[in-house]
Amino acid sequence: NVRVFSGMQPTSDALHLGNYLGAMQNWLKLQDMICKENETVQNERDKHSVLFSIVDLHSLTSTKSISPKTLRSNIESVATNYLACGIDPDKVILFNQSMVPAHSELTWIFNCITSIGKLNNMIQFKEKKRSEDNDNISCGLLSYPVLMAADILLYRTTHVPVGEDQRQHLELTRKIAQIFHNQYKTKIFPTPITLNPVHSKKIMSLNDGTCKMSKSDPSEFSRIMLTDTDAQIKSKIKKAKTDTITGISFDPSTRPDVANLLVIASSMSGQPIADIVNEFSNKPTSVFKEFVSDSVISHVSPIREKIDYYKAHPKKVQEVLYKGAEKANIIANGNLKKIKDLVGLYH
Ligand code: ATP
Ligand code: MG
Repeated sequence: NVRVFSGMQPTSDALHLGNYLGAMQNWLKLQDMICKENETVQNERDKHSVLFSIVDLHSLTSTKSISPKTLRSNIESVATNYLACGIDPDKVILFNQSMVPAHSELTWIFNCITSIGKLNNMIQFKEKKRSEDNDNISCGLLSYPVLMAADILLYRTTHVPVGEDQRQHLELTRKIAQIFHNQYKTKIFPTPITLNPVHSKKIMSLNDGTCKMSKSDPSEFSRIMLTDTDAQIKSKIKKAKTDTITGISFDPSTRPDVANLLVIASSMSGQPIADIVNEFSNKPTSVFKEFVSDSVISHVSPIREKIDYYKAHPKKVQEVLYKGAEKANIIANGNLKKIKDLVGLYH
């Protein structure tokens, strides 16, 4: 049985273009693919399932303290973004992680079989710890990939649509499953693999084409959010870093900033990069940037309108989260019981 799991953190009140192009586009494609396949499956029990989560427990690892009030409202806002992008709660299980306590329980079990050495080697940990002072690096930040392994393995997930930046974490997830199997002389978890039906792009910061676009970057000008107004999008792209080379060409290694704008424009407009380069190769950067803005605006503004709709109907969003948690808890608790039996714990 195919089972898909993925999530995003409510570290901000909206998704950015990186989340959208690196993950959301794949989620939408998978939602439809799995839904179509399910039509031909007779037995209810054999139907494939897709789970998309707002992973609020993960966001507690950012010590740049999001206030409780902000976190709470971010959770609902991210759910709103999912719905506005086209995630359909009738086709998938859309839920908030902390409403399913089994994630935390399984994390503890996995924490006890994962070596600190492995976690110290995670690229994301090394990057994120650089922005913290040494006394402030939490166990949670170190254990972030263990929580992610628990998210995935709790549902006995087979496929995980995540961006490039999560590849190492997924490798660790497979290792944790293997260690668990060796330790408890059993095989309960499938080997989860990345699945990205749409070519997954890594979108870089508008301030620095060598760093990824990120919700937790302190500069708002580093990213375009799905909630940005047309004017904000225009001004962010106008200010985006480029270089002093004349004309537009695609060379990610020597011209990372321009290459990133080309990837964005191409993904948003549906035009191949080569065609855009052709059109703007001899034109000034400012003219190219106008094209980038226009393509982003025409793709993002309809999504923003849907976000506004759901924001005006918060009850609808809350109901989706409660119903989603109910469904997720059933699968999660069933699997957690089996895992606890294997470990020798009571349930
Ligand atoms: P944070 O900075 O708080 O970690 P984030 O922007 O990295 O936030 P996450 O919630 O950690 O967002 O990631 C959600 C999904 O978006 C993941 O599948 C991740 O791989 C993908 N993703 C995040 N940033 C990018 C990016 N710049 N390009 C492509 N995919 C991305
Ligand atoms: Mg991240």
